[in-house]
Amino acid sequence: MPRLQDTPGEAAFRERLRGWLSANAPKIEGRDVGALKAWQKKLFDAGWLGLNWPREYGGQGASFREQVVYNEEVIRAQTPAPINGIGLMIVGPTLIAVGSEEQKRRYLAPILSAEEIWCQGFSEPNAGSDLAGLQTRAVSDGDDYVITGQKIWTSNSRIADFIFLLVRTAPDAPRHKGITALIVDMKSPGVSVKPLRQITGDAEFGEVFFDEVRVPQANRIGEENNGWIVAMKTFTRERANISVSTSVRLQQQCGNLLSAVRGRDIPVDPQFRREAARAYLDSECLQLTCERLSEQLFGFESSLVKIVGSEVNQRLQELGLSMLGPDAPLVPDGDFEKTWQFGFLRSRGNTIEGGTSEILRSIVAERILGLPRK
Ligand SMILES: Cc1cc2nc3c(=O)[nH]c(=O)nc-3n(C[C@H](O)[C@H](O)[C@H](O)COP(=O)(O)OP(=O)(O)OC[C@H]3O[C@@H](n4cnc5c(N)ncnc54)[C@H](O)[C@@H]3O)c2cc1C
Repeated sequence: MPRLQDTPGEAAFRERLRGWLSANAPKIEGRDVGALKAWQKKLFDAGWLGLNWPREYGGQGASFREQVVYNEEVIRAQTPAPINGIGLMIVGPTLIAVGSEEQKRRYLAPILSAEEIWCQGFSEPNAGSDLAGLQTRAVSDGDDYVITGQKIWTSNSRIADFIFLLVRTAPDAPRHKGITALIVDMKSPGVSVKPLRQITGDAEFGEVFFDEVRVPQANRIGEENNGWIVAMKTFTRERANISVSTSVRLQQQCGNLLSAVRGRDIPVDPQFRREAARAYLDSECLQLTCERLSEQLFGFESSLVKIVGSEVNQRLQELGLSMLGPDAPLVPDGDFEKTWQFGFLRSRGNTIEGGTSEILRSIVAERILGLPRK
């Protein structure tokens, strides 16, 4: 790091950020929500968040490259990830692209400062890959919508202040044309959350239920029944942001794996060597591809890098676990989130969240390669 040559301005930015992080990065064990909120606020107050968001909404108006430099440096310094990842990576960029002026002024700065935490309510028990099949209903009533239905796999729903929700507003219209995007206050009467425990032992996500929840029509993002277009903008931003940070994190993980193997100073079998070399090459190629694609990542190319990043991560985590030999199934001491065991378990969801690898391969085939639809 860095892979591409920094301009003098980028090099100065990198040095300033590196110095600030080494003086200010906290040590936070596990998922201490209060400490993680305080850390995000500190990053925001120092001007490191929303780098490529417009200044008038609390951002820094910097370039995409500076955002990439930021991602590289926070991973290098191994600082805790900001608690409001969904706000920063999914909701904020979507509001900047399609939100009203009023919504941008109201919601963007508190996303950056972690004063308001967000979750994303897209998936339902019968609508994941087939998102257009969603059934949570919103019916117009005066100046409000009244929402009834259920979402599932909603990350951060237990700590969220707002949910970015897709609902069906025109049940008789063609499936893609009857969906609307809404902002819903999680404290509204009729909203309830039931945690779901994951394979890692965390209950990072949950089910969210809506029982005649009233939401002002002013909370609609974009036009009524135009939610599918909003969702597509969200997905490309979500996949691009996941990919850029994964690409840098993989480099770090590869470095950790190699130094752990060297530290053990025991013979390494040829299969392991081949796999380690492959993981190293794959993570280098992924990072170079992300840097080369730059803002093109906010198009269909986001699917391409998301497939590769999630699959390389799974192979790398398996390798890390195999290095532990017979200790692999044991629960290690210390911060579980920093272990190979946690990494291995959490990486299973990488090829599902934000679109499964099978669905993304179809997008690459049809939208990038121009192959005929099935
Ligand atoms: C860690 C994690 C966090 C998540 N966070 C959120 C969140 O915050 N908000 C949210 O809304 N959702 C979230 N999700 C849900 C995620 O978006 C869905 O799980 C995903 O879209 C897949 O939907 P599904 O689970 O219903 O699986 P299904 O769609 O039922 O798919 C099951 C299998 O069938 C395959 N399949 C389905 N259709 C096709 C097809 N047409 N062609 C080929 N193969 C197909 C899939 O690839 C998959 O292997 C999260 C998921 C995970 C794992």
